[in-house]
Amino acid sequence: MTIKNKEIFCFNKTTQERQTEKFVGKKFNKLLIVEVIGKDKNNRTFVKALCDCGGFICTGASEIKGGRARSCGCIRKQTLLLKKTKN
Ligand SMILES: [Zn+2]
Repeated sequence: MTIKNKEIFCFNKTTQERQTEKFVGKKFNKLLIVEVIGKDKNNRTFVKALCDCGGFICTGASEIKGGRARSCGCIRKQTLLLKKTKN
C-alpha cells in the first residue's frame, strides 16, 4: 500500500509540472505567458508574461489564470489617467 501511494504522489507531481508548462504561449486578458520562472517556498508557480503594451510582469500563474493580474499594471494606470481627465 505504501509503495502504491508513493507512485500516485509521483504521478500527480508530474501532471502538475506538465500543467505549468502548458501555461507558456497561453494568453489571459492582456498577458501572454512567455516563461515559467519557478516556484517559491509556498509552492506557488511564478511566470513571466508579456503585456499587450510591451511591458513584462513577473507574477503568480494563479494570479493570471484567475484574472487577478490582467496586465503589467498599465490598465490601472490608464484607468487613473481617465479618471484624472474626466475630473
Ligand atoms: Zn501593460
